[in-house]
Amino acid sequence: MSVIQRLALAREKAHAFTIQYPPAREYFQERFRTTPADIADFLSSKGGLSGLSEFGLYLHVPFCRARCLYCNFPIDTRRDTSLFSGYADSLIQQLQLLAHCVPSDSKVYGIDIGGGTPTLLPEAELERVLKALGSWRARSKAKRPLSVETGPESASREPAKFSMMRSLGVDRVSLGVQTAESDLLQRVNRMQQRLEVETAFKNIKAAGFSRVNLDLIFGLPGQGLSQWRGDLKLVSSLRPDSITTYDCLYRGKGRGFAMTGAKPPLPSMYGKLYEEAYSFLTSNGYHAPYGSVNFSLHRGETGTSAYFEGRLLDGLPYLGLGLYASSMIGCRWWFSPSQLRDWTRAVQGGEALPAEDCYALPEEERLAKQILWSLSFGFLDLERFREAFGWGIKPRFSQALEAAQGKGWLTRKAGRYLMAPGSFRHLPEIRSLFYTSGALDWVRSVRRG
Ligand code: SF4
Repeated sequence: MSVIQRLALAREKAHAFTIQYPPAREYFQERFRTTPADIADFLSSKGGLSGLSEFGLYLHVPFCRARCLYCNFPIDTRRDTSLFSGYADSLIQQLQLLAHCVPSDSKVYGIDIGGGTPTLLPEAELERVLKALGSWRARSKAKRPLSVETGPESASREPAKFSMMRSLGVDRVSLGVQTAESDLLQRVNRMQQRLEVETAFKNIKAAGFSRVNLDLIFGLPGQGLSQWRGDLKLVSSLRPDSITTYDCLYRGKGRGFAMTGAKPPLPSMYGKLYEEAYSFLTSNGYHAPYGSVNFSLHRGETGTSAYFEGRLLDGLPYLGLGLYASSMIGCRWWFSPSQLRDWTRAVQGGEALPAEDCYALPEEERLAKQILWSLSFGFLDLERFREAFGWGIKPRFSQALEAAQGKGWLTRKAGRYLMAPGSFRHLPEIRSLFYTSGALDWVRSVRRG
């Protein structure tokens, strides 16, 4: 598809060109699906687990009070003591099984515990999981390898849990604020966190973590510029080490928005909201390349976790433990079982990395994913792509890069392509330049259907 056709499609179907690649999971399901048996064969082959010299670890803890309507993560809203302890048992067992499969001298570039809300686990269960992670954390060369996500509710009400986390080696905590505006919280079914943000932050800081991140979302249904300014003002006044500003996603079946009929803002509105964040945060002491959604108080840091950096910027392999967690090694990408009983049974049966939803991706598809991730940091680093793929992106994407430069959306500087100031609202068009032709055909066919 020509550059002109790509850009026209991106303008017409802007919401198919989000940070999440592919444009819909069905596209990969139709074309690149493989079987759990293929993944198991691959994992036990030379190029599989025994060949890994470095990887990231992700532990998924699916428990949440309620489902926020913009969220499509695998979550479980039940609250039951035996469920929590059984889940912690299986996670620990999975770590033990994995230890027998990867080389004992392999390195772990970062470990994230995400969810869900990992800190909804009772203190004793979370403590058991963190103790089991001790030897994995010790394999890391990163300054701050272990990061845990939390929500305002547990952080504001259970300070002792956070002291325990710090004492067991958690380096970084990421607190999901998303918004402090009551009507927006209500609109996205997130009332449980109202008014708790400041206490939550104070408790996390008091526990002594060396890095604390706060997450915000922009582009929520009906969110205006003044509400967004209010959120930015509140979180920056707390002076967290970093602030992540996610653009709200609407597409896909898993999100509650599909039922409420909430419509995404236009790209121009996302652009205005991002410009506001960039100008407000950078004039209040935060650093980020233009286009990055991650802002850091510490110059030279991206503000994100070691796990995310390794995975999203360096394209390194990652292994996901827990319910419906994703893993990727080379072109194999897979998700563990989505049902709790299936995942638990598989782990209890001795499977270190049970797979359910599996793909064998051509390199061009993997590369498209990687480029979109990298653009969320505001740049494409030629050397990092060369390291990850063994060749540079420049020859393969010369047309896309020239087109983006010609439009003034990307500029070239010191081995990087940087997003140019003001170009955030053109992200759907920029992303379309890097989509594979198969993905573009898929987007086009959905339009016709
Ligand atoms: S956004 Fe966070 S708190 Fe809300 S449902 Fe998703 S994982 Fe749970």
